[in-house]
Amino acid sequence: MSEQTIALVTGANKGIGYEIAAGLGALGWRIGVGARDRERGAEAVAALSARRVDAFAVPLDVTDDADVSAAARLLEERGGGLDVLVNNAGAAGGWPDEPTSLDPAALLRLVDTNVVGVIRVTNAMLPLLRRSAHPRIVNQSSHVGSLTLQTDPAVDLGGISGGYAPTKTFLNAVTVQYAAELRGTGILVNNACPGYVATDLNGFSGTRTAEEGAQVAIRLATLPDDGPTGGLFDDGGPVPW
Ligand code: NDP
Repeated sequence: MSEQTIALVTGANKGIGYEIAAGLGALGWRIGVGARDRERGAEAVAALSARRVDAFAVPLDVTDDADVSAAARLLEERGGGLDVLVNNAGAAGGWPDEPTSLDPAALLRLVDTNVVGVIRVTNAMLPLLRRSAHPRIVNQSSHVGSLTLQTDPAVDLGGISGGYAPTKTFLNAVTVQYAAELRGTGILVNNACPGYVATDLNGFSGTRTAEEGAQVAIRLATLPDDGPTGGLFDDGGPVPW
């Protein structure tokens, strides 16, 4: 394993993922820039390099098994391993423009990206993470995935989100399973709530910048060895499931 910390950020070509890559890169880490589109990935690597980030492109559609296997091989060859995995890639389907679209086919596509995509990438990267001295996994969740917040009449999460919110609830449940499975291995796995961030995902209707939204994932990626595992966090601390 190289002395330099190596991180992979999925969906890092734009939005919050790009700013997570920039923030972790500013720590002197080497960043694998996950992007399903090679051109968009190359542009992000160029932009990050201009900000003096040690970045390299990792072609990665999280719904594609072959891409995921190739990404693990690439990290081994180019990075020498992996210390930190940030599962950031995600999609919202039609939400917020189509707020009631709880359509089976659309839901399956969202689950494939937001949940199974995280599982695919995590399982492929675990052998590399197990060799790291300070392994961390951060999954990009959301306040809308919290059943406690969703069912609290005092909390306004912006209305019905169709299949999107349930995929984040599902992701939260998956993280609890990984945390239990990985307890004692040194691998800390936690979920981040970035807040309501202005990105393509919501037609730039969010109220926070992508840089602000990136901070909680950056904090979870840089937890000390005695830090928490199996939790959901925002900038203010723990968020109820
Ligand atoms: P963006 O739409 O700006 O970015 C989403 C990223 O995910 C893009 O890089 C996109 O790639 C990528 N992506 C989508 N599908 C796939 C796939 N199948 N394989 C690989 N990459 C994929 O949105 P955000 O930055 O807002 O979203 C980042 C994460 O933050 C998501 O998980 C989202 O659910 C979560 N989040 C966002 C919030 C917000 O308010 N914005 C709030 C809470 C959570 P491409 O450019 O090719 O489409």
